[in-house]
Amino acid sequence: MSGHLAVVGGGITGVAAFNALVAYGAAERISVIDPLPVGRGTAFATSDPSLICNTSVDTLSLVPEEPEDFLHHLRAGGVDARPEDFVPRWLVSRYARERFLAHRERAERRGVRVGHVRDRAVRVERTAAGDYRVALARGPALPADGVLVCHGYGTPVVPEPVREHLGRPRMFAAPYPERDLLAALPAEPARILVIGTRLSAIETTLLLTGRGHDVVMTSPSGELPAVRTHTLRPRGRYVDAAAVARLDLTDPRLERRVLRIVEQATARIRPLPLARQTDASADPVRRLRAETELAARGDILWQEVMVELIDLVNDRTAGTPLEVREQALRRCHRLLGRYMGAFPLDNARRLLGLFDAGRVRLRRGIPERLTEAGGWRAHWPDGTTETFEAVVCATGLHHPVLEVTGGALHLTPGDEPDRRVPVVDAELRVHLAGAARPERIWLLGIAAHLGVPLVNAVYPAARQAAALGRRLAGRDTGERAA
Ligand SMILES: Cc1cc2nc3c(=O)[nH]c(=O)nc-3n(C[C@H](O)[C@H](O)[C@H](O)COP(=O)(O)OP(=O)(O)OC[C@H]3O[C@@H](n4cnc5c(N)ncnc54)[C@H](O)[C@@H]3O)c2cc1C
Repeated sequence: MSGHLAVVGGGITGVAAFNALVAYGAAERISVIDPLPVGRGTAFATSDPSLICNTSVDTLSLVPEEPEDFLHHLRAGGVDARPEDFVPRWLVSRYARERFLAHRERAERRGVRVGHVRDRAVRVERTAAGDYRVALARGPALPADGVLVCHGYGTPVVPEPVREHLGRPRMFAAPYPERDLLAALPAEPARILVIGTRLSAIETTLLLTGRGHDVVMTSPSGELPAVRTHTLRPRGRYVDAAAVARLDLTDPRLERRVLRIVEQATARIRPLPLARQTDASADPVRRLRAETELAARGDILWQEVMVELIDLVNDRTAGTPLEVREQALRRCHRLLGRYMGAFPLDNARRLLGLFDAGRVRLRRGIPERLTEAGGWRAHWPDGTTETFEAVVCATGLHHPVLEVTGGALHLTPGDEPDRRVPVVDAELRVHLAGAARPERIWLLGIAAHLGVPLVNAVYPAARQAAALGRRLAGRDTGERAA
């Protein structure tokens, strides 16, 4: 058991980590550091019920050992959910908050001291005695015997043409919080440019059209994700784990090899070539229509093996050099972007209806320039212009700042010349610059991207948290944190 553990970030991952520390009796004292209330996080702090999860109830449990924990929470609260459902996102933050409070009470009953420090962690310093101090933005530094870094996403990704206009009216770096976005838009129907064509751009489009606005969606590729009806935990062993373990991450044909593994895995469910589970139309709307039909017919067997594949890929790649992993991710961008980032069938049908009604249009290539002209004029690469009442970037979020020097892990930007990207081992422990041994500093959730590739979901974060709880309590089963 550890003495005092600090959990930096009280979002979904921070709560999963806190709960695991309590459940496994891994610490005598736990401090959660977050300027925001614990359990909100970035993605689930929504209030509009139309903003739904893109993963099923079945993969949103914060407790991997109790995979139906979220389902039970929903049913206990009167929500008649099924494991495959994509429920409104605010229900996930309600769940996290409720489970946090329950675990806090449980910890306190056992004499574990629990605190919430409402401050922002700036860096984690190693002391001469070999333990740590978490430097805070406002208050005095917090001493700790170990630190779990769960600080989630960084700032929004803002495309070049938007940057110079940030802060101007009706120019939004991100669609969230959606309440602020909707409040700043005109009450009467307007034309809005949404930059992005992936998950958050799609849901922003549905949100805006639901308020009577018309939307043009645009991105460099102009491509939409595939469609799915659920993300269920593996119901059998379909993926050839040995084939995943044998993958050469430096192979230029890596994506093709992974697709082959997916095809073989789906064949164990029912023989159906991958080419008949997907559509290859060049026109993205036609492709969406065809893939919506495939999803509605149940002919998208690939979705049955995705969660199993994510687990195996994370296990296979944990601890491999960052450059190798990043190159592998780039090589598999189609699989990752379209299929792991697929969107719910109901939303696909709604989006198709909007395309058909002419309320939403899709463009490839973002504007070269934006100028203020009683609204925002977009100057398209083909020389044409179009005017919009508002521009909303739904282009994703950066990874958080994580840099090391010889004595500290930094969580905010800085210009010390010796800063570098930390080495992170297979247990997601951080090495300070030049250090041979890992620290008692762990990265979890989105922050773990430096250690494992596929972290952009609650499911792997909860697994990481549980594995770490077990390990800290001395009940390590050898399972990887990834
Ligand atoms: C729009 C959107 C929709 C998504 N939908 C789904 C989905 O349906 N299903 C799914 O599985 N995943 C989804 N994801 C991914 C999911 O959000 C993440 O996998 C996971 O929730 C991240 O949780 P987190 O706690 O690691 O980070 P965050 O949610 O970003 O929370 C980080 C917390 O840390 C705090 N913090 C940040 N910096 C500091 C600091 N320096 N000091 C102290 N505290 C700090 C923040 O205030 C925040 O409370 C979605 C993501 C987005 C962006």
